Amino acid sequence: METVLFSGVPFGHAGPVPPRLERTSKLPLVMALALGLVIAALLYVFNPADGGFYPVCAFHQATGWLCPGCGGLRAMHQLLHGHVPAAFYLNPALVCGLPFVAVIAVKWISLELKGEPVPLTLKPIWLWTGFAVLLLFTILRNLPLASTYGFVR
Ligand SMILES: [Zn+2]
Repeated sequence: METVLFSGVPFGHAGPVPPRLERTSKLPLVMALALGLVIAALLYVFNPADGGFYPVCAFHQATGWLCPGCGGLRAMHQLLHGHVPAAFYLNPALVCGLPFVAVIAVKWISLELKGEPVPLTLKPIWLWTGFAVLLLFTILRNLPLASTYGFVR
């Protein structure tokens, strides 16, 4: 009696080379989406403006200045409630940057679902442009007249 493995190749015979193992698990994607939904639900229910369990900005605590992310959680809370102007007032960089992040996320998710490799790199020009925009935004929102333009909080 001949022993047959799962591949259908008799034991002891040279069979076809197994295909290269490829990542087929969607678990990381599902977990990332679930985590995003939990965070969105928390931000929807609990307003960061009321304090609570949300983290405090270490940069703001140490310097008194606003970092590019200051007001981001409160802005997300306002966005989730459909209050775009209030969100823009709290953190305009976040509101303007979200559409770009959403486009990239949708592209990456669609590639992941098709089983194609997801590029985790950015062209240097985009990286430097984003850095320059955030630096300029940080400087502008910390100017004394910034409250006039709505770059405060
Ligand atoms: Zn901050």
